[in-house]
Amino acid sequence: MTRALLIVDVQNDFTEGGALGVAGGDDVARGISRLLAEHAGDYDVIIASRDWHHGDDDNGGHFAAEPDFVDSWPVHCVGGAEGADYDPLLDTSAVTHHVKKGQGVPSYSMFEGAADDGSTVSQILAAAGVDEADVVGIATDHCVRASALDALREGVAVTVLTDLVAGVAPGPSAAALEEIRAAGGSTR
Ligand SMILES: [Zn+2]
Repeated sequence: MTRALLIVDVQNDFTEGGALGVAGGDDVARGISRLLAEHAGDYDVIIASRDWHHGDDDNGGHFAAEPDFVDSWPVHCVGGAEGADYDPLLDTSAVTHHVKKGQGVPSYSMFEGAADDGSTVSQILAAAGVDEADVVGIATDHCVRASALDALREGVAVTVLTDLVAGVAPGPSAAALEEIRAAGGSTR
């Protein structure tokens, strides 16, 4: 098997103290760093994504002054600003591919993003012959959910590592994991 680790949006604005800070985000960052310290060698490809929005427009309605926290959100992860940086608790030294998404548009799945050389996550996985992926990061009920479901659609066997994800809300996060299992993914 050729294995990938997909690290979704472990960024300052999604961890404690950020514009859309998720409880448990810092622990997720620390836990992923521990996983990488012990097991980076188990993965052939390690892809990390960042939400990376425009600061001078509403990114296709993704930003709103009165957000509904379903389809619209407070300003977050403006490209180049501190909020869009990886959380410093995440050790990115073993990351092989850095992907940005959401430039001017709402973008939940890392499969909608691209590396700076223009390659998409699908292309990176296909080029490496990846058939298995572990998925970790933030937020379980939004970008982790969308990224895991897209990986399954690409024919990759997905396992969400539940100790290494954090969600915005408990109910929707549990529902997201159930949806991933129903689509053929695993959780452990
Ligand atoms: Zn966003």
